[in-house]
Amino acid sequence: MSLFKRNNTVKTGPNADDMLAKMALSNIHDGVIITDRTGIVKFANPAAIAMTECSGVGNAVGLDYALVIKIESKEGREFTASDNPLTIAMTTGQPLDNHIVCLVTCPGSKRIPIALSVIIEDGGDASRIITFRNVTKELAEDSEQAEFISTASHEMRTPVASIEGYLSLALNPQTATIDERARGYLTAAHNASQHLGRLFKDLLDTTKLADGHVHPHFEPVEMVGTVKQIADGYAMPAKNAKLNYQFGSNRSKSISESRKLDQVVYGYVDVNFMREIIGNLIENAIKYTPAGGSVYVNVRGDGDRVLINVTDTGIGISGDDIHHIFQKFYRADNSDTRTIGGTGLGLYIVKQRVEAMGGTVWAESAFGEGSTFYVSLPRITGEEYEKRMIAVRNAALVQNNTNQPIVNNSIVNNPNGGIK
Ligand code: ADP
Repeated sequence: MSLFKRNNTVKTGPNADDMLAKMALSNIHDGVIITDRTGIVKFANPAAIAMTECSGVGNAVGLDYALVIKIESKEGREFTASDNPLTIAMTTGQPLDNHIVCLVTCPGSKRIPIALSVIIEDGGDASRIITFRNVTKELAEDSEQAEFISTASHEMRTPVASIEGYLSLALNPQTATIDERARGYLTAAHNASQHLGRLFKDLLDTTKLADGHVHPHFEPVEMVGTVKQIADGYAMPAKNAKLNYQFGSNRSKSISESRKLDQVVYGYVDVNFMREIIGNLIENAIKYTPAGGSVYVNVRGDGDRVLINVTDTGIGISGDDIHHIFQKFYRADNSDTRTIGGTGLGLYIVKQRVEAMGGTVWAESAFGEGSTFYVSLPRITGEEYEKRMIAVRNAALVQNNTNQPIVNNSIVNNPNGGIK
């Protein structure tokens, strides 16, 4: 008998379907909680009860979902009402897809990393389906993999740096004499070794990010001066690439808009993160803009945000690619990018860094028509800047007096800087 032949003895119909659905929900390892539109629990499967350590199905049904499933950020931070992804999904009706958070068990004693989803069903009594899956093992495996990549990249960077150094010596007319053919071969080898070095650096940064090893060291900063200083470091590479390079200019803005650069704009950021973010965006703008084109960098205050843009007149990004460019290892596949070296990690690192500082990054572009990358970061007032500067100075004084090492002259990992 064929395995696929319908077995006529299996009953079908509404009751039988209900039974099968119940059987499936009772036996899966994922927690499933179904609520009505107002968030009152209508159903919780045994896995949900076991994971939340809620004392029983009967006790969960009829309760507000927030009493049954409590979450914290994956780093163990308590959410506020406005940044709790579950609350937002439940109240706005925006679905949530495999968001990694920590489940706090009902007695509050344990934290379990979970992938949390909320499905919104229109109509009917049961309209919100919350599902969650224990991802402890997956995260441990990811962490092991990241550890391996991180160690391997770290170890391989040293010999690659040495190869690059010797190739530079071989190519330098003051340290070596070579014929033109050898110069061609060695230049190709030098470019490849630089690419490899960059790949290892990016891999190392990516694994550190994945492991949550990199925390911002926030400090109060005047943003226009800071971004200008970073941008100035790329004047020479832009000149070498035969590009018109300007800071404080934005071809899409009127002169009165660009005058806003005279503004003093304050932020509370990690300056090293800023170097990486702005540096990566400018390097890309230079890399993806053919000679004769232009690159503009601009900073301005925009309400309670600081808005930075890096604009180029280069090859642009197609509508299909633009949704993916911030993903790990993604590179647009076209004849231009194929000839331009890259790892596909730069924008992923940029996004992680920007988000770690409470910001957002996005791109606007059309293929063949240049691109603008925007970074929006929280802005602080002049008054807040002064207060935070005083706090930084005081912290430095205390550290000096107690002979503690000063970490980056800043208050570590606290976006509020300890001041209300
Ligand atoms: P890569 O090392 O490949 O440059 P990134 O993560 O920095 O990696 O960028 C991802 C992809 O986004 C690039 O491969 C390229 O296709 C596209 N891209 C990034 N910046 C630009 C730009 N300024 N102009 C055109 N395409 C860009």
